[in-house]
Amino acid sequence: MFGRVIFALALTLGASPALAQNLTNAQRDGAIEFVLNNTRHTMLHEIGHLLVDQLDLPVLGREEDAVDMLATLLILEAGTDADFVALQDTIDGWLQSEVTRPSRGYVNSDFYGAHSLDIQRSYAIACLMVGSDYAEHTRYATRVSLPIDRQQSCAEDYRVAEKGWRAVLDPHRRGPGMGSAPITVRYDDSGDLQEIEDLLRQSRVLETYADWVSKSFVLPNTVTMTAEVCGEVNAFYVPSDRQVILCYEWVDFFYDLYVEEIMPVREHFALMRKLKLDKLGRVE
Ligand SMILES: [Zn+2]
Repeated sequence: MFGRVIFALALTLGASPALAQNLTNAQRDGAIEFVLNNTRHTMLHEIGHLLVDQLDLPVLGREEDAVDMLATLLILEAGTDADFVALQDTIDGWLQSEVTRPSRGYVNSDFYGAHSLDIQRSYAIACLMVGSDYAEHTRYATRVSLPIDRQQSCAEDYRVAEKGWRAVLDPHRRGPGMGSAPITVRYDDSGDLQEIEDLLRQSRVLETYADWVSKSFVLPNTVTMTAEVCGEVNAFYVPSDRQVILCYEWVDFFYDLYVEEIMPVREHFALMRKLKLDKLGRVE
């Protein structure tokens, strides 16, 4: 429906001293996979802003929620187990961001800001997943505490989101023989974050999405996708420059988040599960 965007993780990266942080190869690959999975959702979110702007699309409701939905729908449509893991990693990223929220709790800007709360963004992804295929995703949705009655109503959330995005994007699809303005990918100087730049370059995540957008839609103007040092942990779409910006700091932050917060929890649960299975094995 959207034109599947095929994405293959490149995990054959050379050892990088700064990224290694005394990790085993498997741990480092896990960290890189987590980072690239979160990068996929973020890039598609920013590409959503780009499409809204460049294709002059109507947006019903909050744009930040709408482009989150588009990112999720596109990854769901790709439809492999790796794609589902990508969404689960994105949910874990948002959940972790919620867990590490300072103890002061919420402040007013959380409520008047353009984005939904991190925890709402994570549940919205889980809802579209289970809404797209209840049998496939109900176990996972239950694990992240989405109640069954809400899981069942998510089919309607999915139907409305998918129908809406399809309706506004279809007229802009690039058919055979149709031209589209080119998309340039640029890597600006990464300074101290050279390993992050290397990771992005080797994964070809920017190139993959630039290629997909340009093949899928008829864009009226040239667009740039840039990785750069921003001075903050973020990603943007800048309408005046027609530029999607992925900050090296954002990628670096997710790498550290995985290593420091998520990997220990996953390893703990994997160990518990193994011990439980071993115990059951002995009982049998
Ligand atoms: Zn946004």
